[in-house]
Amino acid sequence: MGYSMRSMRDIMKKLSLNGEVRDLLRQFNLSPQIANKAASVKKLSEGLGVDVHRTDLPRGMAGRLVQDPFSESSYAIEVNKSHDVRSQRFTVLHELGHFLLHADRTDFLAEPMHLNRSSDEFYFDTTQEQEANDFADTLLFGDGALAAAHSLYRGDVPSLAHYFGVTEPMVKVALRKFGVV
Ligand SMILES: [Zn+2]
Repeated sequence: MGYSMRSMRDIMKKLSLNGEVRDLLRQFNLSPQIANKAASVKKLSEGLGVDVHRTDLPRGMAGRLVQDPFSESSYAIEVNKSHDVRSQRFTVLHELGHFLLHADRTDFLAEPMHLNRSSDEFYFDTTQEQEANDFADTLLFGDGALAAAHSLYRGDVPSLAHYFGVTEPMVKVALRKFGVV
């Protein structure tokens, strides 16, 4: 499996973004923690003009990117409020990946895109899913962020999960993906 975006540089190369957006993404990667809390993904998303709504969604659906005329970008992210908060954070980053990489900002009638990890009930494009996950992983863990935290916490997975505000399985996958262990 090849990863097209393993570093922040890969993301910036792939996307033509204005300076403000680049700064917001870099800042998020550089500062996983703000005042001893995992950095707010909602704030990041809103900074990109994408509102975040925690809402009721079908059980197997983690979240989706939807058209929203009241949002600055005309897009909003809906996340399943019944899911674990740490999963919800990752979902927001995943959907931001769809927003930046895949959203057609000219087609207001586009079908909503959604992330669905638990069934094949909904159609999704596996390449786009992989890219959205790579985007989220790189934003969180890339450019040495995971390696630095891994050495700080001596490889303790629960501490790393807390530090990044993600689930322990996500940390374990990322440690392998980024070649830290
Ligand atoms: Zn997705």
